[in-house]
Amino acid sequence: MPLEGDDTDPRTPYQLPFPKDALDEIVVPSAIPEDERLWVPQAENVAFRPLCLNRSNGYWMNLLRVRKSGVLSRHRHSQPVHGLVLKGRWHYLEHDWEAVEGSYVFEPPGETHTLVVPDGVDEMITFFQVNGTMTYVDPYGKVMGFEDVFTKIDMCRKHFTEVGLGEDFVDQFIR
Ligand code: FE
Repeated sequence: MPLEGDDTDPRTPYQLPFPKDALDEIVVPSAIPEDERLWVPQAENVAFRPLCLNRSNGYWMNLLRVRKSGVLSRHRHSQPVHGLVLKGRWHYLEHDWEAVEGSYVFEPPGETHTLVVPDGVDEMITFFQVNGTMTYVDPYGKVMGFEDVFTKIDMCRKHFTEVGLGEDFVDQFIR
């Protein structure tokens, strides 16, 4: 914190160039899109909207949308997850709390859980930062598959190609 009075002109923008190796910012004007093509299908009634696919740090920021009483398959996290519920509500089969509109959730590394949207909720949207790897497992931890930022990017390329936006469309979200 600078000492009061040090900055004689607090409204003058920073005058120097940014580091030449710094990446570009991402600005997504309409994070919850009107265009249905921007939702990438993931499972029945489950889709995600990519916002930042951070291959250089191994995480992704996305909106997860579940319609009807959908389920996100049981999975284990190797690194933390942060979530903010924008619409609807959901719970994990492994916990007794419910995340509702406006809730913030931190999920520590080692969590294994199954996300369920209850009957009566037409649509759930949650903003998630997912770090590292999600490993899909059976109820006893046997590995069934995984996702990471690279599988997410691949899913986006495939979907955006199929809906006519082109495989390069995803590049705007990659850093
Ligand atoms: Fe999870």
